[in-house]
Amino acid sequence: MNGYTTHCHWMKRALELARSAGEAGEVPVGAVIINPQGQLLAEAENRRERDNDPTAHAEILVLRQAGQKLKDWHLNQCTLYVTLEPCPMCAGAIVQARIQLLVYGVDDPKTGTIRTVANIPDSAYSFHRLQVLGGILESACRQQLQSWFAQRREDHSRVKS
Ligand SMILES: [Zn+2]
Repeated sequence: MNGYTTHCHWMKRALELARSAGEAGEVPVGAVIINPQGQLLAEAENRRERDNDPTAHAEILVLRQAGQKLKDWHLNQCTLYVTLEPCPMCAGAIVQARIQLLVYGVDDPKTGTIRTVANIPDSAYSFHRLQVLGGILESACRQQLQSWFAQRREDHSRVKS
C-alpha cells in the first residue's frame, strides 16, 4: 500500500469506531494508533457520555491504551488517525505523547486546534515537532458528523412535540 492508500485504510477503521460511538449516543469520533511497523496498536471511540468523563475523547483513550500496550508513554514513530480535528486537550496530549504523525479527517471549526481555531503543533509551547496531515476521507468524516447531529435534532424535536 502506498501512503495515501494506507491513510485511507486506517481512517476507514477510525470511521467505523466513530459510527459505533454515534450509535451509542456519543458524538461520533473514532481514533486508531499505528505502530512503527505499520500495525494496529490501539483503537478507541468517544466515550464521554457513557463514562461521564469530560476527558474520554477518542484520542485520549487511544493514547492511554497505546501507552499501556507498549509499556511506554513515548509514542515516537507512531501515527494517530482521528476522524475529527483534535480539541486543545487532545492536541496537547498528542504532543505530550511524542506522536510522530497525526492524520485527521475533517476540520473542526469550533474547537479544532491543529489548524483551524488555533495551531498547537506549531506553537511555541509545542516542544515536539508533530507532523500533520488533514483532510483524509474528509467528506466521509464530515458527512458522518453532520448526519449524526441532524438525527439528534430530529429526535429532540420529536420529544418536544
Ligand atoms: Zn478532544
